[in-house]
Amino acid sequence: MAIAAKVKANMAPSPFDPLPSPMIRSSRYVLCSSLSSPMTHADILARLIALRDEIRRHDYLYYVKDHPEISDSKYDRLFRELIELEQAHPELVTPDSPSQRVGAPPLEELVKVPHEQPMLSLDSIVDQSEVQAFDQRIKRELETLSVEYSAEPKFDGLSVELMYDHGIFTRGATRGDGTIGEDVTINLRTIRSLPLRLHAQSGLPDHLVVRGEVYMHLDNFQALNRRMTERGDDAFANPRNAASGSLRQLDSTITATRPLVVTCYEIMALSTPVPPTHWDELETLARWGLPTPVRRQLCASIDEVVSFHRETESVRDQLPYEIDGVVVKVNRRDWQGRLGMKSRSPRWAIAYKFTPRKEVTIVQDIVVSVGRSGTLTPVALLKPVEVGGVTISRATLHNADEVARKDIRIGDTVKVERAGDVIPAITERVPVPGEHRSTPFRMPDHCPVCGSNVGREGAYFYCTGQLVCGAQLKGAIEHFASKHALNIEGLGKKTVAQLVDKGLVRSLADLYRLQPADATELGDLRRFDNPRKLAAFVVLEGDPTDDMANTRRGDFLVAKDARAAARGRVALERPPVGEGDGAVELDR
Ligand SMILES: [Zn+2]
Repeated sequence: MAIAAKVKANMAPSPFDPLPSPMIRSSRYVLCSSLSSPMTHADILARLIALRDEIRRHDYLYYVKDHPEISDSKYDRLFRELIELEQAHPELVTPDSPSQRVGAPPLEELVKVPHEQPMLSLDSIVDQSEVQAFDQRIKRELETLSVEYSAEPKFDGLSVELMYDHGIFTRGATRGDGTIGEDVTINLRTIRSLPLRLHAQSGLPDHLVVRGEVYMHLDNFQALNRRMTERGDDAFANPRNAASGSLRQLDSTITATRPLVVTCYEIMALSTPVPPTHWDELETLARWGLPTPVRRQLCASIDEVVSFHRETESVRDQLPYEIDGVVVKVNRRDWQGRLGMKSRSPRWAIAYKFTPRKEVTIVQDIVVSVGRSGTLTPVALLKPVEVGGVTISRATLHNADEVARKDIRIGDTVKVERAGDVIPAITERVPVPGEHRSTPFRMPDHCPVCGSNVGREGAYFYCTGQLVCGAQLKGAIEHFASKHALNIEGLGKKTVAQLVDKGLVRSLADLYRLQPADATELGDLRRFDNPRKLAAFVVLEGDPTDDMANTRRGDFLVAKDARAAARGRVALERPPVGEGDGAVELDR
């Protein structure tokens, strides 16, 4: 290893030039210097430290302060210099180097780790009267007339525990059940707003455990979903699912491509005395370079909390991320201690939620959508209505039992909610006096796509047509082309739908009979401007006696089995509407 490094140094001297002497360009000099000249070695070390500090500072300005000072290209130059210098001197690489955010080998599984302190959940309230009652109880128990509160947005993400030892990020875990979480350290390291080393100006504690929230900005979430869909992968239902799925990857290189951010809001353990108030706690975290809620307020009374809640709710749709309420905490920590906790939640804090986004509209029709796994899902076609800034014209009814339980019929007036504030769902029927209702909804006996008989397993109805069914054939081809099977680039959801809808492919075997000319039938030629994408189709052509083709046939059988397995699973679980099945093309 050491020799390889020296050879590498010999072959590719770093652009770093500690001495403005032509001598430095001599590879022999570099080789010798890194071995024996302590002066030059010290210089290299000094340059590495300076580079890392500078990159960390720019990361902080860019990702935490949202206020970059240098151009991307300048930043890239600094980063490249760091990488080259570290490649030439691998013995000088430290775990807190900005270069070490990515590159950890994939894990076999996420290891369970106990939290140092339990990660409690918060009691939720919605009504203003409840927040007043909360204030009354606090004052009564503390025997005081005035209580100061700290209020901050409640991020709709994934709660994490972050550990720093001597200022270096050493471990991070998901909340899990609050006592035991999953170790996601290597994935958290890829989040650029998370410092791998704390700012040292104000003195670093030996040990610090911080609680934070990992989430995704809405525009990044939508862009990610577009990329996933174009590749033929399933889109995420909402930013929270996307954050959770991204953080719980076994391969951190995947996490690194996901636009995750983190915000810290609580010190859970500290080797030095904890600041006297929650507000000071946040200020301290910010001084250490940790991202903290930007939009927060110190409230002298519960009325100020109510105002902050109202203002925050009114700007909610302008914020770049999802929040679902305001967290209200008694500011003084000694008072927090006196108030104590219930079994799983503190008695000094609450989540003051926003009113769920709900509107009333009319069910114009109920159609049945067939998913790629063959599951039939009833979908309500609605009179278009705006819910939280998004026009909704379809909403999932999940399954026949749900429709019966809520008793939703064509013509009914209903309440629509954006569950998780992204996927629209009908929450309830609104009875209208004197209305004449249509007959109750019934699942069809025959598949609306292929006409095959409909089977039933518990609450779920499915088409028995298998690959005769266009919907299921699409699912099978998508799986066949996915990266878990044949990994055919360019054969994503859209293209598959075109191939099946235009009758070019009526069975999986038809994929082998596709001709390059068929690609032109697909209309959207832009997809094939890349020769590799077109090649993906051509390569499917093949002599049935050809070994390669037979190998693909073997894969085909595997794909079929995997699909059958997936089908069994789908029958047991709730259909992953909007989350995977693709059964419902939802608005937005
Ligand atoms: Zn069918």
